Order: sequence, then C-alpha cells, then structure tokens
Amino acid sequence: MKPYVDNLTSQWMEEGICNFENRRLFYSLYIGEQREAVKICQKCPIIDKCREYAISNNEIGVWGGTTEKQRRKLRFNKAER
Ligand code: SF4
Repeated sequence: MKPYVDNLTSQWMEEGICNFENRRLFYSLYIGEQREAVKICQKCPIIDKCREYAISNNEIGVWGGTTEKQRRKLRFNKAER
C-alpha cells in the first residue's frame, strides 16, 4: 500500500495491483523502472482514481499510470483552463 494516507483513502488503495508487485519500481529514479511501473498500472482497476489522488496530493513516484513529471504537466494544463 502507498504510504502517508489516511484510513479512508487507503481503503481503495488496497485494490491496487501494486500491492502485489515490487514497490521499489514505483519510486525509482530510473526511467526504465518507472516505465515498468507505468505498465503495471495499465492493468490496475483503480488507475483513474489513483491518478487523480496523486495529482491532488502532489505525490511522488508513479501513481495511476503516470510519472511525477507527467502529473506536473497535467496539473499545469488544468490550471491553464
Ligand atoms: S494505478 Fe498504479 S500506483 Fe495506482 S494503485 Fe494501481 S498499480 Fe498502484
């Protein structure tokens, strides 16, 4: 389970398939490992919810099939609208 979350948000996170994967990939600084994590996310049933949560909470690492850099762009684009 991803760290630093309260009990309510952590309930949906229990459905994430990253709970059964190598968690290090999701916080790796290496692009190749980040891509592996993103691929894992593509099969996850809560990908949209996870991505929105990460955008709203400025999370680090790969969440919801996006890297930090990708989420920064999404946040910027949202702010521009
Ligand atoms: S979308 Fe990715 S980071 Fe989010 S719970 Fe699923 S596997 Fe984990």
